[in-house]
Amino acid sequence: MKKDKNQMKKEYNEILTLTGKYLEQKKEQGERQVYLSKEIKLSQKEKSSTVPENLLAKLEKKLKNCRKCNLGESRTNLVFGAGNPRAWLMFVGEGPGHDEDMKGLPFIGRAGKLLTNIIEAMKMKREDVYIANIVKCHPMIDPGQPQKRGNDRPPRPEEIAQCKPFLLKQIEIIKPEVICTLGTHATQSLLEITTPIGVLRGKFCSFGNCKLMPTYHPAALLRNSNLKKFVWEDMKKIMKERSKN
Ligand code: SF4
Repeated sequence: MKKDKNQMKKEYNEILTLTGKYLEQKKEQGERQVYLSKEIKLSQKEKSSTVPENLLAKLEKKLKNCRKCNLGESRTNLVFGAGNPRAWLMFVGEGPGHDEDMKGLPFIGRAGKLLTNIIEAMKMKREDVYIANIVKCHPMIDPGQPQKRGNDRPPRPEEIAQCKPFLLKQIEIIKPEVICTLGTHATQSLLEITTPIGVLRGKFCSFGNCKLMPTYHPAALLRNSNLKKFVWEDMKKIMKERSKN
């Protein structure tokens, strides 16, 4: 398959990182001159320690039994995130709901199906992007009834504070060009502001090395279909941004 420009850019950056590591290692070993050969040999361990797929798998394994906040006590499954570990576009929601908690996968309920439609309308597949949430365990109104539908609530600030570092680590590994936050809680939590989503949506802002586009949560579109046109406007801006690179 033909690699696109951005994929090549990513791979080029990975090669630079590996080369830098190799030179650092030689420096630590006391070498002051390095002779270039056709191939720089890196150990299998060094290679695997910089591969996004491996780094994400390692992080997921580390989180498997996480109980850093009270959500860990009531969850059925931890919902780590899913998609392309080298995605240029990452969607971030607020937290898993009932269906996600049952299956351990993000955005698979009605709102998730709508998100899939949006991604496909952007001429991509779900597997092309990465989908995650601010918190990885299901925030419930009544934690004693994980089987009950309609038991969802937004994550609390203390839960976000505990879980957000894991999302930031995922972003650091994936290095997306664009992050699209879905809804009030994801947007306000990542940007650490309290401005309403209606004001924030549709305008790119900087987030580390990437751009962040806030938009409405697909669940909001299920409640109010008039919002769909705004989300589509935001997606068009994301696609336009991508075409510039
Ligand atoms: S929500 Fe995050 S911090 Fe809380 S238990 Fe789950 S993985 Fe750990």
